[in-house]
Amino acid sequence: MNIIEIKEIAKTYDIKTMPVKALNGINLTFQEGEFTSIVGPSGSGKTTLLNILGGLDEPTEGEVIIDGQNITKLNNKKKTLFRMMNIGFVFQSFNLIPVLTVKENIEFIMQLQGMPRETREQRTLELLDAVGLADKINSRPNKLSGGQQQRVAVARALASKPKFILADEPTANLDSKSTENLLDIMEKLNENEHITFIFSTHDARVMHKAKRIITIEDGKVIKDVWQNNNPTA
Ligand code: ADP
Ligand code: ADP
Repeated sequence: MNIIEIKEIAKTYDIKTMPVKALNGINLTFQEGEFTSIVGPSGSGKTTLLNILGGLDEPTEGEVIIDGQNITKLNNKKKTLFRMMNIGFVFQSFNLIPVLTVKENIEFIMQLQGMPRETREQRTLELLDAVGLADKINSRPNKLSGGQQQRVAVARALASKPKFILADEPTANLDSKSTENLLDIMEKLNENEHITFIFSTHDARVMHKAKRIITIEDGKVIKDVWQNNNPTA
């Protein structure tokens, strides 16, 4: 089943001197259970594409359809709510709230969703177990290494049971050991729990872990290939 479909996406940033065409004529569909990387040189449009896929930024042209819903047609308030209920985000700079503990960071969105306390606490424990950080539940982010913080960010992204997770260069600030560790966890979540991941990277090792590799250059898709471990072939 398609969970995301984007049609004829273009994005132009209007800056004073001249407009920057960040994306142009992008058509893509993503299915449930994908483990997909988006690669391309710096400035090729990866962040812009992920932001549009997640409804964080609006395309200048085209449509974004998530789970049958055309999100380009939603007002800001509805879009925020839709995002909260359906999409998990992981950014390169961890983005945990520093004054909250690991537990509070993860529970935050479940609280907003109105999940009862017991369910929340149970789920937080399960998620921290899954990322190997159950013993850090009451720590604050600055007490954790970068790799640990990013694993918390993955746990947090999963908290609301999103339809998919978008990760913008999730390993950019990690050393190779932490990178491997994070990818192992993402792979396991993908294989065992069928969590859909779409992540950008310019690290070749990270890219090759993906089942599908989409290459963009100058705002266009120039290559879209499935690796031989394609589950839907
Ligand atoms: P990547 O993530 O592949 O590095 P980006 O999506 O960040 O690429 O950027 C694509 C292009 O759009 C680049 O030329 C970049 O300078 C430009 N761009 C990105 N964000 C903005 C913005 N907020 N305002 C103006 N130009 C931007
Ligand atoms: P990436 O690591 O994806 O390449 P960048 O460091 O290029 O990201 O960009 C970081 C932030 O700056 C992003 O939010 C992006 O939208 C914004 N940005 C990038 N290029 C420009 C630009 N030319 N003008 C304004 N903002 C930009």
